Formats: sequence, structure tokens, C-alpha cells
Amino acid sequence: MPSIEVSVASLGFPRIGPRRELKFALESYWAGKSSQAELLEAARKLRSDRWQEQRRRGVTVIPCNDFSLYDHMLDTALMVGAVPARFGAPPRGFSMDTYFAMARGSGTGTAGIDVHGHAQHDGKGAAALEMTKWFDTNYHYLVPELSPDQRFELCWTKPLDEFREAKALGIHTRPVLVGPVTFLKLAKAAGNAEDGSVFDPLSLLPRLLPVYGQLLRQLAAAGVDWVQIDEPVLVLDLSADERAALATAYQTLSAEDPRLKLMLTTYFGRLGDNLDSVLKLPIDGLHVDLLRAPEQLDAVLDQTPADWLLSLGVVDGRNVWRADLSLILDRLDKALAAKPRARLELAPSCSLLHVPVDLDAETELDAELRQWLAFAVQKLDELKTLAAALREGRAGVSAALQATDGAVADRRRSTRVHDAKVAKRLQELGDAHRSRKHPFAQRHEAQLHKLSLPKFPTTTIGSFPQTGEIRKARAALAHGELSRADYEAKMRSEIEQAIRWQEQIGLDVLVHGEFERNDMVQYFGEQLTGFAFTRLGWVQSYGSRCVRPPIIYGDVSRPHEMTVTWWRYAQSLTSKPVKAMLTGPVTMLNWSFVRDDEPREQVCRQIALAIRDEVMDLEAAGAAIIQIDEAAFREGLPLRHADWAGYLEWAVDCFRLCSSGVADATQIHSHMCYSEFNDIIKSIAAMDADVISIETSRSRMELLDAFRGISYPNQIGPGVYDIHSPRVPGVGEISNLLTAARQRLTDGQLWVNPDCGLKTRRWEEVRPALTNMVEAAQELRRSL
Ligand code: GLN
Ligand code: ZN
Repeated sequence: MPSIEVSVASLGFPRIGPRRELKFALESYWAGKSSQAELLEAARKLRSDRWQEQRRRGVTVIPCNDFSLYDHMLDTALMVGAVPARFGAPPRGFSMDTYFAMARGSGTGTAGIDVHGHAQHDGKGAAALEMTKWFDTNYHYLVPELSPDQRFELCWTKPLDEFREAKALGIHTRPVLVGPVTFLKLAKAAGNAEDGSVFDPLSLLPRLLPVYGQLLRQLAAAGVDWVQIDEPVLVLDLSADERAALATAYQTLSAEDPRLKLMLTTYFGRLGDNLDSVLKLPIDGLHVDLLRAPEQLDAVLDQTPADWLLSLGVVDGRNVWRADLSLILDRLDKALAAKPRARLELAPSCSLLHVPVDLDAETELDAELRQWLAFAVQKLDELKTLAAALREGRAGVSAALQATDGAVADRRRSTRVHDAKVAKRLQELGDAHRSRKHPFAQRHEAQLHKLSLPKFPTTTIGSFPQTGEIRKARAALAHGELSRADYEAKMRSEIEQAIRWQEQIGLDVLVHGEFERNDMVQYFGEQLTGFAFTRLGWVQSYGSRCVRPPIIYGDVSRPHEMTVTWWRYAQSLTSKPVKAMLTGPVTMLNWSFVRDDEPREQVCRQIALAIRDEVMDLEAAGAAIIQIDEAAFREGLPLRHADWAGYLEWAVDCFRLCSSGVADATQIHSHMCYSEFNDIIKSIAAMDADVISIETSRSRMELLDAFRGISYPNQIGPGVYDIHSPRVPGVGEISNLLTAARQRLTDGQLWVNPDCGLKTRRWEEVRPALTNMVEAAQELRRSL
């Protein structure tokens, strides 16, 4: 094999720090406990540490500008002067006040965070930019707002500043930029065009490109040779206009400075039908994701110009599994033998932003499981090994390869991973496990009879405020300062108070309040087989907020009941029905790191069966109403439309698997935290939950039109209380929402409930808000 030049790139490294240093620096600054200078110093130190770490680990193409104090889309907005008027004029250089006002809102308006960790606002001061998910990850970016008369200018030279900062440390970096087309496509149109038509932010491209051009020239002048331009929109379905925009953008940018080379970076999926457009771009390098789309390897080796530097995303940037290095090398060797290249770059499939920092910090994970895993720095080691093997042959890295081969083989054989009982149960599933005994109409009769609820029944979504006291008790339990018995007694007393209070204000279907749960996925994962939890496996969700996703490593089953005792206790306190609360399989899957040795749908079915066992036990214990939350059902939709049907089919199947074992008279609820149902309404109907509660209060019920459109037969609880805001809705306001809902649903269909769970709200808000909600429902009943 001819000699080959191989570089190693990281594309981006976690920003939060190995001990969440960034989180603590930010929160201390926001709390007024440290100065701007201290925050900036903490950030500088983090950047320096990250650069050194990557160099130590053998990365040859080290990124800069992948760091952010809050979010890279926000950085880009500020860089190009896209500052909405409510935050004042775009600042020259970096203004921390403007930056955090855009991130978190300003004035008296910021009021904490909702159950998804999103910032909330009460309408006073300037509301923060909206936040939404970055492609199909659990990272949230801030959505730039662009107006039809938007002007751009280079206000902040962050990429240049970071390049120079690294240079001063003796490290030559490759700046990372959000590509102009991705920036515009992910932005939101603020206002209409002059003629009143909806305006497309993409139309601003001609105004935006000169600013990117100016930046590129400055970078080149400072000594930058390569720039990584991220255009993940290239893995989405693109319109002809969008493809034309890419052509315009890269024709313009590639002509800015002859010294500068552009590495166009795509990730999270296949280029597919966008590959042809990419091949025509005047770029110098292309990065492709070979985890999500391994078949791209042959295509890009075959079709891209020989002088392009190909960056191959061979190690999973989205998941925590140790790579099968020998397998990767086999594939590369084979492909390269057919289509040799003089040089290559090896990289993770995408930025390492989406994985935890360092496995070595996980001192409490058992040794067997640990050897199956790789976090960000271990992935860099893997890339280094792969690069060495490509350059000099495998002999030089045989020890590293042997270690990996051993771990891979062990994982494949382990009885902790493979449980024959689980496999057998899945195999034996038939249609009977997937449908309720009778159609909704018949079940409805049985449920009316059993539950004798009033018209417009009132309920809540499950959780009540997780007060500081409750969290403290949980921490004390974890630290061994509170006995399990005392902790449980404390939780029982919280439940009792919540039940009494719900009875007092006249709610019809009560909940126990979920006080004993740390998190709606973790609580269940900790009680199931096949799940593991890390100590420091934090991943940034947005800003300072980090999550520690569970790791699903093996076959999932439920060794013992998980919620029955708590439910039974709550029900023993009252004669009103207490709704049992579970998290659904699709949500558990979407919020975890999922094993990569089984199809996702199969893992999801295993979780569904474990939840089904709990459902059946709850029913046997006497629960007449069981709610199975599917907060992340819609989130799991694939990026490409063509892949939607496949996902929806198995996601619906999993919900039906977990929920369909019960008798007609047992009422199954589901809750979903959003209201965009138009495009998946048939799947929502196919889930066949007796009652679904959804988020609608802010959209004034218009989104219920989707349900009317297909004459959805089952019951619906459209949220009438916006729990994302601390504001207490009045009775009149709730009544108006109910009126709007009744224009779209029959009276027999309508339930009355808030938009979502109340765990991040305070009792001072929840008490009056729910009292008003019950009053509005009662008024409506009286008026009939
Ligand atoms: N039952 C959960 C709660 O009330 C639902 C939360 C959610 O869907 N995000 O907290
Ligand atoms: Zn919700």
C-alpha cells in the first residue's frame, strides 16, 4: 500500500469541562458571586486546557471557536451583528450583557426554567431568544431572529480571537464556523416581508456573505490556513433554493483569500441526494459522518476530486461505545485499496460536544462495563491509533488493537448484555400484545361506568413542585446522611399533603406528585436491568445546563415493581382515582445513550415490555388510570422525511406494546410535551391512548385543528395553564381557552389540565393556578 498522510481532527471538544467547570463559573457569575473578569478567566483556562489535552492525545488538527460561553449559534448571531432590537444596538466587540440577555432574557422577565430546562419568561423585560434542539441531538441552540430589513456586520471576531489565543500558547488551530447556510436555515423569520408575505431568512444570504468574507480574510491574514465550516443542513432534505444558496455561498467564500482552505463539515446523517451539489462546490475538503451513513465511504472516495482532503468520521461522536478499531481498519483498508488517497483526515462522526469528557473519571462503573466505553478523550486515543495503523501498518499499534478486540469480543459474549429470556419474549410477541381488547368507543363506555367522572374532568400531568427540601432529602439519602426509611417517610408525607390539597381544591383525577423521582427517565432506568448511570458523564444540554444520560448497555427487563408501592400508598389516602405515572419506552430511548449492537427499535421494544409489566402490576393493584408519558416521542423523528414512516411505525408499536395489556375499563393516558401534531397526527391516533394531554395554552388551541381534521375519536386534555411561565392564569382566561377548545372538540372528549408537569414551578404559583383551573371547569359544567 502506498504511503498515506493521515491527520487527526476532533471537530469540536466538550466545552463544559471535566468537572462542569463552565457551569459553575457561569452560575456563579449570574448569581452575582463573581465578576465578568473571573468568568472570562475561567473560560480562558478551559480553552487552554482543552487545547493542551487534545494535543497531548495526538490530535493534529485542533479546533478553535468550538468553545462557547453559552451556545455556538448565539456566538454566530452576535458575531454577525444579528441582535434583535429589543436587546439594543449590536455591540462592537463582545458585550457580556447583550450576550446573556439574548441567551436568558433581561430585566425582571427571566424566571427560572421549565421541566425541559428551558428558560421561562413572564413578559417583563426582553425575552430571551427561543431555544430548540440542534438537529436530532439533545443539545439546544438559541434560534437567531432575523428581520426582512436585517443588516449584518462583523461585530465580534471571536474565531480570530481564539485562534490568536491558541497561537500564543504555541498551538496552531483550525477555526470552526457555523456555515452561513446552516445559520440562515436554522434562524427564525421575525416579521413579514414588506409586501406582507412570509420572508425566508435564506434571502439574506447576499447580505451575510460579505461579513463571512471579511472574517475569512482576517483569519487568513492572522495565519489561519484551514477553516472548518459546519453545514449540517446538508444531511437534511434541501430545496432547490437551498442548494443554490450553498453554491453561491461557497463560490463566494472560496474566493476570499487564496491562502485559505475550506473543510466543509457535514454530520448527523447521509449527504444522500445532496452529494451531487456538494461535489460541485469549490471547497478543499469534506467531512462525512460514517457512523450514521457508513455507505458514504465508497461514494466519497469514488466521486470527490482527488485533491480534496477527505475527513472521515469513523468514530461515533454521538455515543459512548468503544470503537471496533479492527473493523474500522478493515473497512478503510478495503476502500482505500480500491481508491487510494495521498492523504486523509480521521475524525469523530461529529463534534465531541455530544459525549461526556473522560471515562477515567468514572471510578464507580464496574471494570467490565468500563472497558466497553469511550468518552471524548478516549475517542481521541482511538483516532490516534487508527491514524498510526493507516500510516505505518497495524503492527506498530498491535497492543492497542488487541485490547480493543478483547473488549469488543467480551461485550459481544457477555451475559450482562444478552438475556435469553428477553430475546425469547420478544420473539413470541404477537398481534394480541399490540392492541387493546376493544376499540375506543367500547372502552369509553366501560371507563365511564367504572370511573364516574364529571364532564370536563380535571387533572394534572403528574409532578408537583420539587422543592429545595425534597432535593435536599434526596441528596442526604445519597450521601448516607438520611436513612432510606426516613427518606421514604418524608416522601410519604409530601404525597399525603399533595393528595389532601388536591381533594380540597376539587380536582377529579389526582396524582401522587412524583416527589420520589429524581428524573423521569433515571428513576425507571435505575430499576431496570441493562441500564447504567455515570457519576460525571455530563453532556451539555444548553448553556450551563447539563444532563447525564443513562447508558443502555444490555437487554432490558424489570426485575421488580417500580412504582406500585408509591401508587398504592397514594390511593389509600383518598376515594378519588389516583392516576399512576410511568415514562414511556420511546422517551426513555431518546434520552439515553443506546447500545449500538442492536437496532434502536429492538431496544425500545424491550423497554416497552418492561413498562408493560409495570402497567399490568399497577392494574392488578387496582389502578384504574395509568399515564405513560411520551414527552420525547416527536423528538425522535429522523432528520430525513423519507425515514419518518419507519420510525413512527416502531415508536407507535412500542407504545401499544406497553399499554395494551389492560382491561377495557382501565384508562390509559399519555402526555406529550408539544403541540405540533399536524404531521404525525395519524401516528398519535394509532397510539390509541384513551386520553392524551398536550401543550396548547400558548397557541390558543389552534393546534387542535389537527385532531378535528382526522376526527380523532379518543379524549384529549389540551393544556390550559402555561406552566413555562410563573404567571398565574385567571379563571376567565382559562374559560376562554376552554371555549376555544370546545370549538374543536366535543364536550365528551375534553379534559382540563395544565400544559405539562409542575415540578419546576413553586407551590405559590401552582396553588392559585390549579384552583382557578378547577373553578373554570366547574363554571363550565354549571353553564350547561
Ligand atoms: N409526568 C411528568 C411530569 O409531570 C411529565 C413530564 C414531561 O412530560 N416532561 O413531570
Ligand atoms: Zn410535558
